Amino acid sequence: MATLNSKLNDIQKWKELQEENQRRVEVDIHEVERVIDLARKTPGLAAYEENLRAMSVFFATETKAARSSGNWAYLNALVGWWDLYRESVMQRYSGVTPVELRTADKVVANIFDRFVRTIPGNQVSYSRIAKPLVYGGEGGPSAYFSIPRTLQRPFAIINLPHTAFDHVWRWLALPHETGHDLYASVRGLPAEVEDALETAMRSAVQNSEVQIPDVTVDLNPQGIPKIIQYIGEDFLATVWRGWANEAQADVIGYLNCGAAALVTLQQIIEFREQHPWLLFQGTTPGVIEDAPEEHPVPYIRNVLGIEVLRLIDGGSHNALADELQTRLDALAPQPTEIVFAISVFSQLGGANVIGQNGIEVARIQTSELIKSAKLAAKVLVQQNFAALGGNSYEQLGTFTAGDQRIVDALIDPIYGGEAGFVNEAQGVEPRHALAATVFAFERIFGLKDPVYREQRAAIINETFTHFV
Ligand SMILES: [Zn+2]
Repeated sequence: MATLNSKLNDIQKWKELQEENQRRVEVDIHEVERVIDLARKTPGLAAYEENLRAMSVFFATETKAARSSGNWAYLNALVGWWDLYRESVMQRYSGVTPVELRTADKVVANIFDRFVRTIPGNQVSYSRIAKPLVYGGEGGPSAYFSIPRTLQRPFAIINLPHTAFDHVWRWLALPHETGHDLYASVRGLPAEVEDALETAMRSAVQNSEVQIPDVTVDLNPQGIPKIIQYIGEDFLATVWRGWANEAQADVIGYLNCGAAALVTLQQIIEFREQHPWLLFQGTTPGVIEDAPEEHPVPYIRNVLGIEVLRLIDGGSHNALADELQTRLDALAPQPTEIVFAISVFSQLGGANVIGQNGIEVARIQTSELIKSAKLAAKVLVQQNFAALGGNSYEQLGTFTAGDQRIVDALIDPIYGGEAGFVNEAQGVEPRHALAATVFAFERIFGLKDPVYREQRAAIINETFTHFV
């Protein structure tokens, strides 16, 4: 006797089964009202009554629209987002980690307010009243990400891995994630930024400011029907277009928290000089496309960060930029070349299809990519974009010498566990305190007694999360 129901081999019956699945999704959406009721009773969320009401309307109208247009993929995406919103409420309601989440909420709200609110409203696809919420999510200590969608959402969600709750100095990834949210939510911004980077790279290669060789790699001998082929300027333009989102998110980090954001970034990404090149199935069936992995190769990402710090607020962070350059030189002497190679992470079935890791696509002189990073920094800090209301990123909000002085003054109190260091009257904001944590954390590496060292780290975490 067969295990499967053969009636479902009929397309009509199959459709019935799919409709049943979709109907059940609809039932899940009915949790919305119950969860919003919980949110109203939850400290940290109760104040967002207007957003909660908007959220209820948002899910009701969007799911209705998805159902009536038969857009099941969208309906399922809505359910996926709903899960995150629901979890964000539950995490705060359950009270297991309310302190960390409340603090993280304050940090992202601070950055969100500085940037998203200064962009003309008609450019932003968030709801006018949008608030960011941090979701204590899964993933290892580096799994920070945002869930940006181009919809009128009343809440933005930023993922902070649970495993990083006791590493507050790593929360300097939060401004970067808020930067991703911005990129996804400002209409026309990605196209403008990518075009601007492309234009800068092309003209630099054309006028011989940057030397990039032509690239040709035939993958047919590896059983992949594909020849990767670029002239130099196409290659550099492709690389920076591919890196645009991550690079601009880094810039948002520096414009909010200054050099501290790069101190943490170094700890997370370190200094690798090899970069994955991805192969994937394109939109045309049978056509294999290729692209750089989207995070700038760590060595160049360090260089980009240092250059951005030199540019912002008229070079007032040069001393810290020099210190970061010294650290980079000490830990990762400048490599001669940056190697781009097909990765096991390639979406085309990975190593199983390719047969081996590391088929080289290109070797580019590091000195040339450094020049390109300096050009990218200029575009990302100083160029004006229509999508930003004619402003540059720096004009939305910069990190000044005064900001750095506030940060410097917070290092001792955070290291020493002093309450009450966030004094709004003196211009101290959550982002300043966040920046100070990574400098405080560095101090414990001078301590010999491991028990005392552990205590200091705990004090930094607690002081920050309890008093911001
Ligand atoms: Zn990122």
